Amino acid sequence: MKHIDIASVLQDKTLLGSEVTVCGWVRTARDSAAVAFLELTDGTSFLRLQAVVDKAKLSLDPECTKCGASVAVKGTVVKAFKGEGAELNAAEVTLLGKCPGDFPIQKKRTTLDFLRTIPHLRLRTNTFSAVFRVRSVAAQAIHRYFHEHRFYYMHTPLITASDCEGAGEMFRVTTQPWDAKYESETAYYKDDFFGVKAGLSVSGQLEGEVAAMALGRIYTFGPSFRAENSNTTRHLAEFWHVEPEIAFAELPEVMEVAEDMIKSVVRAVLAECPAEMDFFDRFMEQGLKAKLANIVENKFAVLEYTHAIELLKKADVKFQFPVEWGCDLQTEHEKYITEQVYKKPVFVVNYPKEIKSFYMKQNPDGKTVAATDLLVPGIGEIIGGSEREADPDKLLAAMQARNMDLAAYEQYLDLRKFGTAPHGGFGLGFDRFVMYVTGMENIRDVVLFPRTVKNIM
Ligand code: ATP
Ligand code: MN
Repeated sequence: MKHIDIASVLQDKTLLGSEVTVCGWVRTARDSAAVAFLELTDGTSFLRLQAVVDKAKLSLDPECTKCGASVAVKGTVVKAFKGEGAELNAAEVTLLGKCPGDFPIQKKRTTLDFLRTIPHLRLRTNTFSAVFRVRSVAAQAIHRYFHEHRFYYMHTPLITASDCEGAGEMFRVTTQPWDAKYESETAYYKDDFFGVKAGLSVSGQLEGEVAAMALGRIYTFGPSFRAENSNTTRHLAEFWHVEPEIAFAELPEVMEVAEDMIKSVVRAVLAECPAEMDFFDRFMEQGLKAKLANIVENKFAVLEYTHAIELLKKADVKFQFPVEWGCDLQTEHEKYITEQVYKKPVFVVNYPKEIKSFYMKQNPDGKTVAATDLLVPGIGEIIGGSEREADPDKLLAAMQARNMDLAAYEQYLDLRKFGTAPHGGFGLGFDRFVMYVTGMENIRDVVLFPRTVKNIM
């Protein structure tokens, strides 16, 4: 259909005085005997376009004034009666699709919980259309950042036979039902599609390392799957994962890229989504824009794990999980550090080797690895990264200490055998990042169709 975006009508001053057609959904309508005002949205803009219908000049189908109806309006673009923008003097209003009164998205504000039960319609609200425009702008900005810094975009497999150890439970990929005739798991998988046990990848890192060890700098941006049995506001079974991997780099450079990328994407969102960000600042998280401006302007804090433990032990707070050197940081600890102590993003570095993965570079102290988590207020961890162990003997020792099946990691070990080099990378949970920049508090509200325990609607 020949028509023009509402965003263009609202922004493009050169359109004043010209005749255009817009298509959209009616968000609200005010109707009187002489004149009707239709507020239209077509998804291209947070702001709505008002169409003014002079009923003396044209007859208006009453169905066109129902909330949710879709219409095409031809008319002249004029300066808005109020404010800076433009509105449309309608010459012709065509009903494209009527919307009966049981449309669940009515003018009055509903709860996010209720909207979660209608994932197919919730995008028609201001909140959700704003979330998904911001999500798209952030995703584009991530690609742009890496492209401009000569990181190559890699597509790593989603189906895998190796589980990137320590990263959580894998979903099984299979084509055959269990049959009691199999006496062992191996025998059963032998008959399965791949002939071995296969699953959905929890991370593209191992394959990403393969690519970085040839192309220098790479990143992946795709889904990862984790059979997380935890029903939290920040875990999904299927989430979007951004994983750069950098050759000839040590931990500080990995952290530099993480910080620089986040700042660059936050800047892009603030610049490209001003109306959405005003809305989130007012209705989702007061002070959001100031928080983000602060992020862009200040250096992130860096905190040794060992110091983090000291801070937590001194803290005047009763934690549910006790703190001791060697323990993993729980969400409550992460939040305390970033919300109470630093009030900004914090890289925690050099974790005890026992609580981190086999592939992380072992530090000279013999106790810690060159790993980092980036913690942010409101969420906790949004990035997990590390320098990778480049020394073949040390890597082998770490794998043996964990009783890992070395045969399954032959390719990974080969990277250290043939021209090994220092390298590292990180994983950013993109959905968590979208929460962070929009102020949305539940990860289910930043993905189109969230997949969580017992929920696949
Ligand atoms: P957490 O401790 O929060 O469960 P993790 O340490 O298991 O996360 P990593 O393996 O370090 O996570 O993954 C890198 C990043 O991917 C995390 O920092 C997080 O932002 C994101 N992430 C991990 N698991 C999930 C999930 N189930 N849902 C959404 N994002 C996730
Ligand atoms: Mn992590």
